[in-house]
Amino acid sequence: MRLKAILTLKCPRCLRGNVYRSFFKMNKSCPHCGVVYEREQGYFMTAVFVGYVMGFVIAVLAGLGLYLTVKPDAIGYLLGASGVVFLSIPLVFHYARVVWMHIDELLDPRKPEELEAARRNREET
Ligand SMILES: [Zn+2]
Repeated sequence: MRLKAILTLKCPRCLRGNVYRSFFKMNKSCPHCGVVYEREQGYFMTAVFVGYVMGFVIAVLAGLGLYLTVKPDAIGYLLGASGVVFLSIPLVFHYARVVWMHIDELLDPRKPEELEAARRNREET
């Protein structure tokens, strides 16, 4: 269920509300349960690290794919893997934040006062 929510970019708390309003716009809070996504200032800095890890995994998979198919020289690997990583930037950007929020929710679930704020937030909108 949570994996499906991550893949479809849903809220880490209710697993239903969309995290993104449009391709470039992220919702400040969940449209379904009202929970605020940015729990504190700088909250998404850790998502940058998640993005690095995702980029590294994509680069390794691209290198492996090149090895199994065309077997290029060193420059070919560098350009091929770099190209794949470059093309995956929008995907990584979206998923890094969502993956980070889900990891954070699993390790440090929102406290009752945060959920109360979410409930008030939902009533206002
Ligand atoms: Zn939600």
